[in-house]
Amino acid sequence: MKFKIMMGTVAVAALLIVTTVSGSFAAFPARMGTSQSVVTKIIPLSSSEISMLTYMREEEKLARDVYLSMYQKWSDVTFSHIANCEQKHADTLKKFLDKYNLSDPFQDVIGVFTNSDLQGKYDQLLLVGSQSYIGGLYVGATIEEIDMIDIQHAIDVTTHIDVINAYQNLLEGSKRHLNAYVKALSAQGVIYTPQFISQEFYDAILGL
Ligand code: MN
Ligand code: MN
Repeated sequence: MKFKIMMGTVAVAALLIVTTVSGSFAAFPARMGTSQSVVTKIIPLSSSEISMLTYMREEEKLARDVYLSMYQKWSDVTFSHIANCEQKHADTLKKFLDKYNLSDPFQDVIGVFTNSDLQGKYDQLLLVGSQSYIGGLYVGATIEEIDMIDIQHAIDVTTHIDVINAYQNLLEGSKRHLNAYVKALSAQGVIYTPQFISQEFYDAILGL
C-alpha cells in the first residue's frame, strides 16, 4: 500500500514537472493517450531551405528525364540505371516536402518543369545529348557536376539534420554517377575534365 501511495506521489510530481516544462496542460494527455500519440514538434523550414528543397526536387527530376531520353536515344543501360536512382532521389525529396507540408512543383510529364530555369537547362542539355552518344554521356557528367554544386549549396543553407542527411545521400549518388559517366566516356576515348567542381574534388571522387 505504501508503495502505491508513493507511486501516486511520484506520478503527481511527474505531472507537475511535465506541465511546467511543456508549459501546456494540453500536451500531457496527448502524450499519455496511446503510444502512437507522442507529440513530435516539427520545426518549419526557413524560406531558403524551402526554395532549395523545392528546387532540388525538380533538379532530380531533370536528371531523371534527361537520362530517360538519352536511354531512348542511345540504348545504353548506364542511362536507365542512373535514371532509376534519380527517381529515388526525387521521391526522397517528395517525402520531405510532405513532412514539412510544402507544395510539390513536380509535373508528371517527362521534360516539363515548373521552374523556368530548370526548363531552360533541360531543353539545352537535351539538345546537346541528342547530337551523339558521347554528347549524351557528356551531358550526364555535366548534370552530375551541377547537381553536386547545387546539393552542396542546399546543405549549406539547411539546418535541419533530417534534410541534410537526405542531401548527403544524394551527393554520394552523384559521385557514383559522375564516375560512371566518366568511365563510359573514357571507354569512348574521351578524357573528361571537370567544368564546375574543382579539380581536387574531381580527383578525390574518381579516386585519382
Ligand atoms: Mn540525383
Ligand atoms: Mn545523379
